[in-house]
Amino acid sequence: MSTQPKKARRADDRSAALVDYLEPHLGAMINLIRDLVQYESPSHNKRAVDELGQYMADVFRGARGRVTMHWNDRFGDHLQADFEGEGPRVLLLGHHDTVWDVGTLKSTPFRRERGRLFGPGVLDMKTGLVQALFAIDALRAVRGKLPRPVTFLSVTDEEIGSESSRAVTERVAKECAAVFVLEPAFGLHGALKTARKGVGDYTVRVQGKAAHAGLDFKDGANAILELSRQLLKIEKFSDVKSGITVNPGVIRGGTRTNVVPAEASCEIDVRISKLSQSAALEKKFRSLRPIDRRCALEVEGGINRPPMERTAAAGKLFKLAQRLGPEVGLKLREAAVGGGSDGNFTAALGVPTLDGLGPVGEGAHASNESVLVDQLIPRTALLARLLEEL
Ligand SMILES: [Zn+2]
Repeated sequence: MSTQPKKARRADDRSAALVDYLEPHLGAMINLIRDLVQYESPSHNKRAVDELGQYMADVFRGARGRVTMHWNDRFGDHLQADFEGEGPRVLLLGHHDTVWDVGTLKSTPFRRERGRLFGPGVLDMKTGLVQALFAIDALRAVRGKLPRPVTFLSVTDEEIGSESSRAVTERVAKECAAVFVLEPAFGLHGALKTARKGVGDYTVRVQGKAAHAGLDFKDGANAILELSRQLLKIEKFSDVKSGITVNPGVIRGGTRTNVVPAEASCEIDVRISKLSQSAALEKKFRSLRPIDRRCALEVEGGINRPPMERTAAAGKLFKLAQRLGPEVGLKLREAAVGGGSDGNFTAALGVPTLDGLGPVGEGAHASNESVLVDQLIPRTALLARLLEEL
């Protein structure tokens, strides 16, 4: 009779073998997460993002990935690493830009505290990139080879709309049987994301007529007032029940208090839950007309990320993850969320996409951004299992 019955039973379990391999590598995972966090990488700083990209390229080359850098003149170069295997290819999709400026580390250093890792970009989404690497590593170490070819793609402008990376992401995704997005899970229970809202932005600009607020008040056409009236109309474009939200988020206008302002503008975030809602919303924005006829109105923008609508294929991927979850101690739920990701693009192409496979934590884009250390290994093992059970 075995003296370690529990161990003996686990050895038969395909997930347990991966977990057993990963456990002694937890320190190495955390060190790599620390390194990625310490290369600060705000989307708009090409030089900083490229430094991180080069570091990651070396790491992925070291893991026998065939690295391609997709050159980009405005933002960081996008990083692709291909790993050999047989069968249909799978895409592991992430980004290595963050919303945090260089210097944030001074006030929010990388640290491990109370069972969590803290630091700018640790949740969104540098930890997810590390999980992808270790999932690949674990499969090769434990099974001897990858169950299928895997492409890892990390882009550099996700936080600012993915304008420069969208074509790359779409081109790669089209050659893949499925896409696993390394964005953080939803909530501290770690739900996976099968639906995301579509995202867009509009800018409304008003051109009025400047005048002295005292001497010739009546000659002025107040751009701020005109814009305010337009915003009251725009507010009504929201239809929260149907998943349409319209948020005037940034407003500018005027020069000084004694001048009737000639200019005012507003940047507006819009979200939709179905692609079919996009045309009607677009029409509403485009049909705005000046209320004060002396003012001119200009509308720019549109939906830049189609919604990730929950498809049957995404539901199937989720079911698979849910079935595999208990093998690594995870009870997985499914979530539809308001934020967009690059998974929106791949899902819109019809490639089955499952999102939220990165770390579990909280505080994305906030100063308490953190990930749970005890979730690193189960989530990495889950990703590895998905790659082989797909
Ligand atoms: Zn992200």
